[in-house]
Amino acid sequence: MEWNNFLSTSGKAALAAVFPENIYCICCGDVLDPGQKSGLCRRCAEKMPWSLDNPFHSYMDEFAFDDLMPCVRYGSYARKIMNGLKNGGQNYMAENVGLMLAERLQLSWDMPDLLAAVPSHKSKMQKRGYNQAELLAESAAKHLKLPYQKGLLVKTRATGSMRMADGRTRRSMLEDSFAVSQRFADLIPGKHICLVDDVVTTGSTADACARVLKGAGAAKVSVLCFGASSGTRKSQSDGGEDEIF
Ligand SMILES: [Zn+2]
Repeated sequence: MEWNNFLSTSGKAALAAVFPENIYCICCGDVLDPGQKSGLCRRCAEKMPWSLDNPFHSYMDEFAFDDLMPCVRYGSYARKIMNGLKNGGQNYMAENVGLMLAERLQLSWDMPDLLAAVPSHKSKMQKRGYNQAELLAESAAKHLKLPYQKGLLVKTRATGSMRMADGRTRRSMLEDSFAVSQRFADLIPGKHICLVDDVVTTGSTADACARVLKGAGAAKVSVLCFGASSGTRKSQSDGGEDEIF
C-alpha cells in the first residue's frame, strides 16, 4: 500500500469513528434503510413539520436580524431531535442536523460571508461540555464550504431560564449579555453574517445577538435554525405587548 493511500484510509477510519454512517433515525431511534439522508427514517421524514418560511415575516421591523430561515416548525418532532443533540449523541446528530441547515441555507438567494453561532455562557459550557449551536454552525459551514468563526460572539453573563418569560422580560434579561469577541471584530464590518441556533422561539436571543453584530458593523444578519415557533401571536390580557408562540 502506498503511504498516501494508507494515510487517507486510516484518516477515513478515524473520521468514521467520529461521524459514524447513518444507522439510527435521529428522531425515533429506529434502524434506517440504507441511503436514508439526514439521519431520518422515512416515517419521521414524512411526519416532520417541514416549514421553510420565516414565521415572523409580518413583523420583522421589530427585530435586528434581516431574515429567519428555519427547517421545521418547532414541536414534538423537533424537540426529540434537539433533546438528543443536547443529551449525548452530539456528533452524529450535529452532522445530520447540520446537513439539513446547509440545505436550507442553499435555498436562500443571498449567501452569507460568514457563519457564527449563538454563544452560551461558560457556566453552561462547563456543565454540558459543548454548545449545540456551535456544533450545528460548524457542520453546516463544512457542508456549504463557507467560513465559520467559532467564538465570534461571546455570552458575557448567564441569563438563567427564560422559558416562562414573556418577550419584554426576555429582552431585558438579555440586555448587554452578548458581545463581539475583540479578537474577531475585524471580520464583521460590511459582512453578511449568518447566525446559527438550534431553536428560535420568540426571537429575543437572535435579536440580541443581531443587535451586537450590527453594532459592530455587520451589513446584514440572517438567522438559520433547525426549529422555529409558528410566530402566532397571543395578546396578553394585561394589555402588554404580544407574545409569540
Ligand atoms: Zn424515525
